[in-house]
Amino acid sequence: MKIELSKNRKQKPDVNALGFGKYFTDHMLVWEYDSSEGGWQEQMIIPYDDFKLDPACCSLHYGQGIFEGLKAYKGEDGGVTMFRPRDNFLRMNKSAQRLCMATFDVDEALRGLAQLIKLEEDWIPTQAGTSLYIRPFMFGTEPFLGVHPSGKFMFTIILSPVGSYYANGLEPTKLIVEDKYTRASQGGTGEAKCMGNYAASLLAGEEAKKKGFDQVLWLDGEEKKYVTEVGSMNIAFVIGDKVVTPELDGTILRGITRDSAIKVLRAGGYEVEERKLPIAEVVSAARDGSLKEAFGTGTAAVISPVGTINFSGEDLVINNGEMGKITSWLYDRITGIQTRRYADDFGWVYRVK
Ligand SMILES: *Cc1c(COP(=O)(O)O)cnc(C)c1O
Repeated sequence: MKIELSKNRKQKPDVNALGFGKYFTDHMLVWEYDSSEGGWQEQMIIPYDDFKLDPACCSLHYGQGIFEGLKAYKGEDGGVTMFRPRDNFLRMNKSAQRLCMATFDVDEALRGLAQLIKLEEDWIPTQAGTSLYIRPFMFGTEPFLGVHPSGKFMFTIILSPVGSYYANGLEPTKLIVEDKYTRASQGGTGEAKCMGNYAASLLAGEEAKKKGFDQVLWLDGEEKKYVTEVGSMNIAFVIGDKVVTPELDGTILRGITRDSAIKVLRAGGYEVEERKLPIAEVVSAARDGSLKEAFGTGTAAVISPVGTINFSGEDLVINNGEMGKITSWLYDRITGIQTRRYADDFGWVYRVK
């Protein structure tokens, strides 16, 4: 590991104005891969700065790019932890395989990340709901215009202190069921955390916003009959006394928060079903009152209550548009484990120091 320290440290932003992903710390980790130089090179921590890229850099043309998102926390005792970081790097390697990119040693990535976090420790905010968001990403850098996998990659980690995702408390979101565009289909890249999935989803999101909704609720790409996920979150419903979430069918992103939610709910005595979930079932459950709650799961917001789902012009209001009991219990449990307010019974908390 080579380390070059920044000579002009930035001023830290006001903790009340952090927002999400607006400020970046003083350093970043870069780790280059070159197939003609024996693969992965030595990791480097260097001052946060612009990249210099050849205009023929292949990922700018053909989109070989993947990313991850996770968080680090600092406790009152000064201890610094991350939440399930190994799972992020394992998933990143799966994304890399799907996009014909270089895979890496997960332990080496973890060691590099831990070193970067230690160096930037003073950037970790401690106020309730805040954290240091970690963004690992990788893209092809070889310059060429023929279509083939890149032989060179840039693996980078940048860090951003983030505020509570909810400026106005846990306000339930409004979703609209997307009936025109699709996010993923069988055999596609839906399960990979790749840049292109987001580019392909932007137009649906913009059209939803124009209609007054926060995000779209995606259906499957084949029949447009089954619920899959929300833009950047997985989705779950409380129907009767069960929690139901779409099963991982190869098109749905394997959310680490989704997995954590299922395990925490089951340990708390709730029944959780992972299965195909027809949108028609959600609509009829909303109409007959058996749809009690709905929530999204994802690293950024952790657990995000859903207040309204619009289906074919009809607003289905869930729990009077308020956060439900199970949703708020789950939010408290998961954020409590992440910030060490609750015992880490699952072995999810990774100590940096
Ligand atoms: C990252 C992501 C999620 C959530 O995954 P987490 O590991 O819980 O953060 C869900 N859906 C999509 C499309 C994503 O990119």
